[in-house]
Amino acid sequence: MKTAVTICSLAMLVSCRQTVVENAEKTMGTNVEKTDAEWKAQLTPMQYRVLRKAGTERAGTGALLHNKQAGTYTCAGCGAELFASGEKYESGCGWPSFYQTSHASNIAERVDSSVGMRRTEVLCSNCGGHLGHVFEDGPQPTGQRYCINSASLGFKEEDRISRQAQRSELRARRRASGQGAHRE
Ligand SMILES: [Zn+2]
Repeated sequence: MKTAVTICSLAMLVSCRQTVVENAEKTMGTNVEKTDAEWKAQLTPMQYRVLRKAGTERAGTGALLHNKQAGTYTCAGCGAELFASGEKYESGCGWPSFYQTSHASNIAERVDSSVGMRRTEVLCSNCGGHLGHVFEDGPQPTGQRYCINSASLGFKEEDRISRQAQRSELRARRRASGQGAHRE
């Protein structure tokens, strides 16, 4: 019985990954139609090399590698939301790493056999930009490591304005109660 359950969940996992890959190949880059020249004009040379030519930035060099601010990681090509700051972890591999994505519909995956290895490439499903690869050596509970080039990422810091508004409201309330006490 236990074996049957295991086989069944394995089969589900396999078919799930299959769907992701098929889905990736169907939807990749269909929402943003830009010529190569337009991408070149919009992106920095490093962003262009990574996003449009599936390049890899040098390990340990990415601007967002050690970023610990709260917010959302976006696609540097089209702005699609890709990962939440809470999903990032220090893997020590030299590239920003995430153990899962809460924006799965914006992430596409496909098999990459380019360097004599079978790897799973990770792309932005909105513009087709290359982000990095996903490996199966991440932390629990997912066991996954999305190894993403910093150059292909943007970062939106959590809404500072709403936090400031909350703080000034709190100050106003404190002032009001302070004056109340004074009058008594
Ligand atoms: Zn994109």
